[in-house]
This record gives sequence, structure tokens and C-alpha cells, in this order.
Amino acid sequence: MFDLPAQRAYLSDKYDLAPSPELAASMDDIYQRMARVVSPVDWAIYAPYVKAINDLKAERNAVILGHNYMTPEIFHGISDFGGDSLQLAIKATEVKEDVIVQCGVHFMAETSKILSPNKTVLIPDMEAGCSLAESITAEGIAEMRKQYPGAPVVTYVNTTAEVKAASDICCTSSNAAQIVAAQDSHTVIMTPDQYLAQNVARDVPQKNVVWWEGSCIVHEQYSASDLRDFREWNPGTRLIAHPECPPDVVAEADFSGSTSGIIKYVTDEKPEKALLITECSMASNIADELPEVDFVGPCNMCPYMKKITLEKVLYSLDTMTGQVEVDADVAEKARLSVQRMIDLSRQLGL
Ligand code: SF4
Repeated sequence: MFDLPAQRAYLSDKYDLAPSPELAASMDDIYQRMARVVSPVDWAIYAPYVKAINDLKAERNAVILGHNYMTPEIFHGISDFGGDSLQLAIKATEVKEDVIVQCGVHFMAETSKILSPNKTVLIPDMEAGCSLAESITAEGIAEMRKQYPGAPVVTYVNTTAEVKAASDICCTSSNAAQIVAAQDSHTVIMTPDQYLAQNVARDVPQKNVVWWEGSCIVHEQYSASDLRDFREWNPGTRLIAHPECPPDVVAEADFSGSTSGIIKYVTDEKPEKALLITECSMASNIADELPEVDFVGPCNMCPYMKKITLEKVLYSLDTMTGQVEVDADVAEKARLSVQRMIDLSRQLGL
């Protein structure tokens, strides 16, 4: 459990973290990456943390990997690399630093540890979980194998190391359809996201895709009628949905793609108005790079992703707490599933 008062007391004894407009002004180059969505008052509050973390990174020989769903002060202020799960998983294999701070959720940190067992991997809040990762266990995979003998198991990276270890290959939302299409079997088991699986089943009709019934608490909240209402209230708005949304939501959207697919689509198309049917920080993190696009709400927030804050990152990196460990045998099997995904993605040019 994160003991906020004790950790705040520890940090304030060691660092000057008082809001500072002067320090904020001296870090204007960083602020300009998020100025459209972060007010100058908030930036004066964040700047001392951003400076302390960036200084400490050099001292600890650490690198920060920030998921697209991190808040802008984390994504633009302290992350060395940003991206979706696949991009961050690949980056974890390439970085030279001794310490990886995963600004994302626990399964992402586990993936980094699996791929880089000799590095110290920190997650600033151990309780940053995921409704998908919590929906399935290795026993669930065994049940699916019993039900569909011989069918390969393609598992979304949003799972624990044990579940990855029990699977044949991993996938992310950016490569799921291609990974399923490349399996040497007519029936393919997809876990744990039923909606991603149903969207893949539509895109890969040559396969019999069967699925586990997990879902993401952020994306399952959208309905097709929500999208029809948004379109009516905001004529001319481009609706862009993540494939963790139910298939009827994806069908109502103008485009569906992973977080990196969404960034590419909006960057290429530059619609006048866009509504991203996904986690709230997605739009905030690309707003400054795309001033010509008006990102209209609403959005849904991931309570797990939002457990990661500047304060927790500073505490974790200072005290080196929140170290992620994975049993060596489990890690080896899970690494094979993740590595097969990375290798196949490279082979397919993804
Ligand atoms: S957005 Fe959904 S899939 Fe991503 S971490 Fe949150 S609950 Fe899990």
C-alpha cells in the first residue's frame, strides 16, 4: 500500500518541491510540449518534481518508459521514450541504462523485467493493475486449451507473466490481427480481451477466433449509441476508437487502431475535430503536436494508469522501491511468448 503521508514527508525533507514559477520558466522547453493542456499554474507545481526526477535519472543511470495513457507531465516531462505496449516492450530490450522506471501499469513493468532480467525495473505504484490482466490466470489458459485442443493461444500483453508463460505467443492491439492471421491453425484462441478478439475475428475472417471473456474497464464503457450521439452533437467530428471497444462501437467509428495507430491516423489526416474513443490522456499527449486538431471530449480515465504520479515516480527512483521481480522459470517461458511476438512483428514489418 502506498503510504502517501510518510512518503510526502520523506520527499519534502530531501527535495525543495514547492511550486516555483521561476523554475517553471527556466524549463519552458519542456513545458512547450504540453502547454495546450497544462496550465502555467499547474506547470509551476510540476516543475520541481520534473527537475528532481530528471536529475535523479542521471544519478541512477535510469530510463523512464511512459505509456501513451500517462498524464502529460509524466509523458512529456520525464519520459525518455513514450509509446504503446509494443513500442515500450521493444524499447525495454534496447535501452542501455541499468534501471527502467515503467510509467504504465504492472504488467508492462513485468514485461520489461522479463525482457531485461538483468536490469532493475521499478513500478512507482505496485497497485497500478489492469482489469484485463486480472481477468485471467494460467488455469484459465489451460481451460481454453482443453476446450479447443491443438489451437494456439494468442495472449494480449495486458496479462501477468504466468499467463504469458502459459501462452504460445503474445500480441498487442497494434499487431493482434496480423499475429492471429499468421498462426498455423484454423482455430485460434485469443485471451483475455473478448472485444479485441471479436474485432480481430471480423478482420481475419479466414480464422475461427475463440476468446476469453475479459474486458477493459475503460473501453467497455462506450456504446454505439454514445457514438451516434457524439456525431449528432458534434457534426464533422472524426470518431476514432481503440479496438478494446466493443465491435459495435468500432463499427460506428471512422477509424480503429492501437494507441500508436491512432496517433498515426490523426497525424496523417489532421481532422478539424477528433474524438478519441479511448483513455483521456491519449488526446492530451498529442494535442500540442497537432495544434490544428480540436480534440473534443468526452473520454474515460483508467484508474490504474492514473495511480502513477510524479510524486510516486520520484519516491520510487529515490528509494529504489517498487522493484518488479518475476520467477526465473516463469520469466523464461513468458519471454518466449513475448519474443515470438516481437520477432513475428519484425518479420511482418510491423
Ligand atoms: S486502459 Fe484498460 S487495458 Fe489499459 S491498463 Fe487500464 S484497464 Fe488495463
